[in-house]
Amino acid sequence: MAQEALPQTNGASIDIRALEKRFGNVRAVDDVSLTIEAGEFVALLGPSGSGKSTVLMSIAGFERPTAGKIIIDGVDCTTLPPNKRNIGMVFQHYTLFPHLSVADNVAFPLKMRGISRSERRRQAEAALETVRLAGYGDRMPKELSGGQQQRVALARAIVYRPRVLLMDEPLSALDKNLREEMQLEIKRLHSELGLTVVFVTHDQGEALTMADRIAILKAGKLQQVSPARELYERPSNLFAAGFIGEMN
Ligand code: ADP
Ligand code: MG
Repeated sequence: MAQEALPQTNGASIDIRALEKRFGNVRAVDDVSLTIEAGEFVALLGPSGSGKSTVLMSIAGFERPTAGKIIIDGVDCTTLPPNKRNIGMVFQHYTLFPHLSVADNVAFPLKMRGISRSERRRQAEAALETVRLAGYGDRMPKELSGGQQQRVALARAIVYRPRVLLMDEPLSALDKNLREEMQLEIKRLHSELGLTVVFVTHDQGEALTMADRIAILKAGKLQQVSPARELYERPSNLFAAGFIGEMN
């Protein structure tokens, strides 16, 4: 039986104001200010160690900034815990629970929120339908391909209908074909669900094909923020960021 897909949600705006995060003497994020519009798809692009994950974890609330603010839809969230921010997150290494079925993996955030078993099942099935994995709920993660597992992680990130989806190099563990398939899948989800997406990558091509705007980080500092189209048409602007050649 076909499941009902998740309804349209509206993305939230994210205002990152003079964000700073130090780890001891290391200034992982150094005075980063960036305003992300509701529904926008922004790529954070930069080499390894440039502070991308720390910015993302600060938006999500897993890291507490040493200075600056995170404003989500006009609300100062700087000191709010992650579960109060209405944010879904997908990590590089899809961290599914191996001993839980696909449906139980997807429903896990709902369990944390005290939602009833029957309602969890219903919402998990809707989320699986959204990532085109309807009917996979009773399988175990190890029975799925890498791309399918990453889709399950995506379903888990959207199951409680967040208004913001944060992704930290979600595709870098996948081979080229799967990666391209998942890029399209994420673009489709972005437009279907009307989410605000912040997508971390060290892959310029990926940032160019996926994002509306690209924010380039280097050594914790924001180097430039440009529409992807502009960088696509004038790749010399990427060189101007002192960037190509330093990427892996
Ligand atoms: P990226 O995601 O761009 O690779 P990170 O945000 O992970 O960069 O790291 C930025 C800098 O902060 C690096 O120098 C890294 O070593 C440091 N860093 C990140 N997390 C921690 C931590 N928990 N403790 C100490 N240093 C950290
Ligand atoms: Mg990182």
